[in-house]
Amino acid sequence: MDINKIREDYPILQRQIEGRPLIYLDNAATSQTPRPVVEAIDKMYYHYKANVHRGVHTLSQEATDLVELTREKVRAFINAGSTQEVIFTRGTTEGINLVASSFGQMLENGDEIIVSVMEHHSNIVPWQLIGQRKRVTLRVVPINERGEIDMQAYEDLFSDNTRFVAVAHVSNVLGTVNPVKQMIEIAHRHGVPVLIDGAQAAPHVHVDVQDLDCDFYAFSSHKMYGPAGVGILYGKRYWLNQMPPYQGGGEMIGQVTFERTTFAELPFKFEAGTPDFVDIAAFGAAIDYIRSLGIDNIAAHEHELLTAAVDGLMGIEGMRLFGTSLNKSGVVSFLVNDISSYDMGLLLDKLGIAVRTGHHCAQPLMARYGVTGMVRASFAVYNTLDEVAAFVAATRRVADMLR
Ligand SMILES: *Cc1c(COP(=O)(O)O)cnc(C)c1O
Repeated sequence: MDINKIREDYPILQRQIEGRPLIYLDNAATSQTPRPVVEAIDKMYYHYKANVHRGVHTLSQEATDLVELTREKVRAFINAGSTQEVIFTRGTTEGINLVASSFGQMLENGDEIIVSVMEHHSNIVPWQLIGQRKRVTLRVVPINERGEIDMQAYEDLFSDNTRFVAVAHVSNVLGTVNPVKQMIEIAHRHGVPVLIDGAQAAPHVHVDVQDLDCDFYAFSSHKMYGPAGVGILYGKRYWLNQMPPYQGGGEMIGQVTFERTTFAELPFKFEAGTPDFVDIAAFGAAIDYIRSLGIDNIAAHEHELLTAAVDGLMGIEGMRLFGTSLNKSGVVSFLVNDISSYDMGLLLDKLGIAVRTGHHCAQPLMARYGVTGMVRASFAVYNTLDEVAAFVAATRRVADMLR
């Protein structure tokens, strides 16, 4: 891969911040968007804008075809068995809320849901909301000091009351790539379905939902070079057919009378209202983009960046890294002595470097480590070793200033 050539597709990377070239290391929050994806959005507005699945007119047919083409691209990307199992949402958060809200209606008082301590708030709060309506409780899988799931503790959490497991494929804070295939196998042995939060996995690791045998898999377009406002929920047909609809409205119905409504076939049963057809069509271009580079090449490049960052940061006095699993994606979270993540982030920004600070939507994980926030750098395909070196040097400089 020619990274300099790749960077030409991102005009934003030419920006200056505080008179210095932008070094964008907040990719786990959202990735930047390459020209082919932005052009696909333009093309949709300029040439194909019409509401989908409704009209007989040519424009509507064309727009519908583009949306359905993306659905097929997503199916192939995650190796789902059928496009009926690929539901468009607004993002990972909505995908998890859909399952929690709909599957949640099939839960009963006393039921238990297993999550891990490293979950993003999006994979905690939706499950707690069920608990406000029914007596459903969360059981939490602990992690070790390296930030890895304690598999024995996980297995021990299963009881006769366990009804569901919801766990991240890759942690947005620790970068840990969890052994989800093994976790799913254990859950299935107990007859329990599993949702995987794939927000941090889909842009960085090869995802095969049939090989994983997960029951649900949720992820977001905007973290994988695609537009904001689009997400994917994969669900096994077996479950989706049993689950009640999430929202009611147009698109999701068969026949409507004031007495009774029948619902549309999958996947439309879970897609009420006009979808974000412009961005869905453009998300297809993002998948093409990732495929053209090759997810394994992207992962290898990011791993090189991660190794350089970790090596460099470890040389800074007072450095504390969070998440040191060998099986780790391109995310590095840290603190230096007791310098607040906020101060660190603010001064790094003055040097043109965009990193994340604070609790990273994972307050229980912060509590686990006894901190209120961390600094996080996260990588994408367009980041370079030079940028990593500049980031390490800047971190050292800021740490020396603040200590
Ligand atoms: C970003 C993220 C989410 C939420 O994704 P949205 O796109 O904000 O809906 C959920 N889980 C993880 C692990 C994330 O990194």
